[in-house]
Amino acid sequence: MKAVVDKDLCIGCGLCPSICPEVFSMDDDGLAIAIDEEIDESLIDSAKEAEESCPVDAITVE
Ligand code: SF4
Repeated sequence: MKAVVDKDLCIGCGLCPSICPEVFSMDDDGLAIAIDEEIDESLIDSAKEAEESCPVDAITVE
């Protein structure tokens, strides 16, 4: 599974890196980015939680 952030939707609220900092971080432009790697199985639940918590549905984990 991989995570993708749609930067056109992200409002830079900072929630996803606070839920799952191993997968999400904030870029220099104040928007979220996701690691460009397969998500470790142990992190899938928290990555999914971040996906569900994003207020603008900018995250896809699949
Ligand atoms: S939770 Fe959504 S809106 Fe907030 S920083 Fe992450 S991707 Fe952007």
